[in-house]
Amino acid sequence: MSDQTITTFSALGLAEPLLKAINESGYTTPTPIQAQAIPIALQGTDLMAGAQTGTGKTAAFSLPILHTLLPFSSSSTSPAKHPIRALVLAPTRELAIQVHDNIKTYAKHTHLRSLVVYGGVDIKTQTPSLKTGVEILVATPGRLLDHVEQKTLSLSQVQFLVLDEADRMLDMGFMPDLKRILALLPTQRQNLMFSATFSNDIKKLADAFLNQPTLIEVARSNATNDNVEQKAYLVNSADKARFLVQLLKQQASKQVIIFTKTKMAASQLAKTLERAEISCSAIHGDKTQKERIEALDAFKAGTIDALVATDVAARGLDISDLPLVINYEISTSPEDYVHRIGRTGRAGAKGVAISLIDEEETKYFDDIEKLIKKQIPRVQAQIERTSSTRATKEESAVRKSIGRQHGAKSSQDAWFNQPYQPNPVVAKDTPANITTHANKRQVVAALLGGLNGFQPTILTSQKRTRTRESNQTKSKEAQQPSESS
Ligand code: AMP
Repeated sequence: MSDQTITTFSALGLAEPLLKAINESGYTTPTPIQAQAIPIALQGTDLMAGAQTGTGKTAAFSLPILHTLLPFSSSSTSPAKHPIRALVLAPTRELAIQVHDNIKTYAKHTHLRSLVVYGGVDIKTQTPSLKTGVEILVATPGRLLDHVEQKTLSLSQVQFLVLDEADRMLDMGFMPDLKRILALLPTQRQNLMFSATFSNDIKKLADAFLNQPTLIEVARSNATNDNVEQKAYLVNSADKARFLVQLLKQQASKQVIIFTKTKMAASQLAKTLERAEISCSAIHGDKTQKERIEALDAFKAGTIDALVATDVAARGLDISDLPLVINYEISTSPEDYVHRIGRTGRAGAKGVAISLIDEEETKYFDDIEKLIKKQIPRVQAQIERTSSTRATKEESAVRKSIGRQHGAKSSQDAWFNQPYQPNPVVAKDTPANITTHANKRQVVAALLGGLNGFQPTILTSQKRTRTRESNQTKSKEAQQPSESS
């Protein structure tokens, strides 16, 4: 049956408890990746799927796995009755948590158990749940190996391996960990690999890990989602913060993710948005994992309107109906653009992605256009020089920081020499430790990537593996030094 003819989940042959959960989730029609991947996965064939983020790929692999594992569903409390049968590897904890949330939702009318484990939290807190037994384990590679080393889990009965966002796993340097994990799995198993982009490295990974996979793509490789309207403005690095504020004020939509390349720029930009215009907040990489999750939850709940995020921090975020993404700084890696703008226009919704390009960044944007095989008209930004868009001390700091990165000359505008006028409105903490001001128009949290935000900072010799994911992140940051500062 071709995917064109599959317009319902029941036509995919999925079991009743899964159909019930899908129905309760409000899904009426399988997305194209689901229509293509589910029948293949149900046949037991290996799969390599090129699916853009937000296409419904999590359900595309979770549903056939749950369906196939249903005969093993048991209400027994004996851990022996709940061995790990499906292992889902994800590059970041945020994605792992999100994937696990989806699996829990789809499995809620079954006795199949699932769990997520990731680094950056005390490994001991994860052990009791593992000991009770779970059929589906979602994990980041480093933490999985920590558990293997501590003998808190066994992978000897794994029937399914999923590599989610495989391209990002390679970017983050997880290849050695993946090889170690592969060596621990039974050779008889089904492998499902998902990647937003199809580089040669991904093809090599597929050759090494998959057994005669069926290749499916829901859109041209490295394409961007047609539901996303892409706009680009040419703007001086010195004027970016001011122009951003202007744009945010003009937007009818409230929720926005703003991407910067560096942790420092994200932090300073959040302050700029707070001081220059509107009340706002920032969450630093130094803050705890709990605070980061709270910020994300607050954003999802609409308490926070904007997230200022680095690529690492924002990876894997699934926020339904996010209408707007702004690339405040253009990434030097064109693939990041695909991932960034994939935060919007998900599951058929419409979205807008706006890029602010300074002179230094035009070459990076040329590379992006080559990758996505699409020209995005570049419009000269018109900056309003009104009091409401005046920059602040922090805006100057962002300008300086970005100027340093791009070697930009400082602006000659006399306005910049005016003394700093502090915002008189007093801050108050929200439950997410988010500073909120009166006269609020937009609340901004900077969701920062980098070491502190992702991993424990204490290194001990006997806890070498606990720092593995930290080191992976570090190595990524080494390739992109701006990420960590
Ligand atoms: P994913 O690509 O797996 O991150 O999914 C993106 C979003 O689409 C998630 O919020 C899912 O809950 C949602 N979604 C997945 N499948 C469907 C579907 N068939 N219909 C509507 N929404 C879906």
